[in-house]
Amino acid sequence: MTDSRRQPWAFYQLKIALIYMAIILVMLALLNTYPVLVSQDIVFENKKQELVNRANGISSALSGVDTLDGTAVAWAMKSLDLSTENRIVITDGGARVLYDNSTADTNVDKRLLLGEVVEALGGKDVFYSRYRDGQFRSYAVVPVLVRGQVAGTVYLYEADSRQGDLLSSLQFNLLSVSLLILVVVLLVSAAVTTLLARRLGRLLHSVQKVHQGEYGHHTKVKGNDELTQLEMSLNELSDRLLQTESSRRQFVADASHELRTPLASMRLMADSILENEGISVETSREFVDDIRNETARLSRMADKLLTLTKLDAQPVSQLEPVRLADAALRAVRMLTPLAKVKDIAICAELDEHCTVSADSDGCYQIIFNLVENAIKYSPAGQPVLVTLNRDGDSVVLRVRDQGNGIPVEEQQRIFDRFYRVDKMRAREAGGAGLGLAIVGAAVQQFNGHIDVESAPGAGCCFIVTFPAAE
Ligand code: ADP
Repeated sequence: MTDSRRQPWAFYQLKIALIYMAIILVMLALLNTYPVLVSQDIVFENKKQELVNRANGISSALSGVDTLDGTAVAWAMKSLDLSTENRIVITDGGARVLYDNSTADTNVDKRLLLGEVVEALGGKDVFYSRYRDGQFRSYAVVPVLVRGQVAGTVYLYEADSRQGDLLSSLQFNLLSVSLLILVVVLLVSAAVTTLLARRLGRLLHSVQKVHQGEYGHHTKVKGNDELTQLEMSLNELSDRLLQTESSRRQFVADASHELRTPLASMRLMADSILENEGISVETSREFVDDIRNETARLSRMADKLLTLTKLDAQPVSQLEPVRLADAALRAVRMLTPLAKVKDIAICAELDEHCTVSADSDGCYQIIFNLVENAIKYSPAGQPVLVTLNRDGDSVVLRVRDQGNGIPVEEQQRIFDRFYRVDKMRAREAGGAGLGLAIVGAAVQQFNGHIDVESAPGAGCCFIVTFPAAE
């Protein structure tokens, strides 16, 4: 593996792994905080209800006294069951401590000067709770009303380790599970990103090979996912490029071969005229006539090559409704003089209602080339039949002749560029093997289909089927 291949994918792998990690860390952070916060809130709410109720219970017990003083409070407190309370402080209206269960010291001047006591003296119930060091520390302060007047406060304080322990163990369990998840995700993401990066690396390597001209190069196809589709598409593309490249090479080789032969013979004839001083005027004229025929053939070939190139480049969207009978009549009219030379009659039986989605020049080219071939490859005096009719949703064009026919094994290849069955005979007939290639390309462009029925000596019938245009 080269560096240029490894580095981008190593970076990509790292990027995916980091994104994975960031997502999983956010999720784990949520997992570790949200349930704890919700549990804390539930405990706070319970504590609030419990402590405020208990404080209000004590406050009600005290509200029956005449005057809120140390003796009255001590007497009232004796009658209450206070076994569960952590700390109870009762103050009078000046925040002076009247009762404190956490100390035996009954210092009369001790005051509980806390903001919440002052607030409770204003007539409000105050509650506060917080979770710290594995303990819920909560307090509630409520006013004591004696004859409808705030005469003091009840201050309840509780430090709950039991619920704190439960919350701590929940936190611990969540943390352990999170660490386990983190390790598993790390291992899985490392495995997944390595596999992914390896496959992408292979794909990139193959793309680079194809880019460098190694058409036909195949990448390994694995699995059954979107990357597999990409791998298969790349292989198909590579094959198609190979095919295109080899037909391009073949085309260039064939074209130069086709050009070289007439050019060489023209040069030979020109040299003969120039170098042979004693050449007669008659022979010179014959040579010049041959040169003219060859140039005419070359110019026909150039026209056909141009037509082929245009057909290859034309976008399919330019199709329009074309009446095939019109194109057929035009082609027959153009070829009648050629047919007359060989005493061939062209019979046309054309259904006027055959319209196809095509391009009128392309349709003309198809019919012209087929009828021209039928005339070229028929013996003198044999008729050529052109028929056009509807067959369900299709339009069928037939061009039939009674010539020598085409051997079955050659029938597949006659649509290839520059392919001729009998090179000598075709050359004599003036053909370069491009006519049927034009026909094939045009038929394909108009979504049609072409078939040939023929047997040696039994003539030929070319059948072109197009989808009918409404
Ligand atoms: P060309 O310009 O040489 O005629 P085409 O591409 O039109 O080239 O045809 C390819 C070959 O197919 C021809 O060389 C000829 O051998 C054969 N062919 C085409 N049409 C006929 C036909 N109607 N009868 C017999 N052979 C035919």
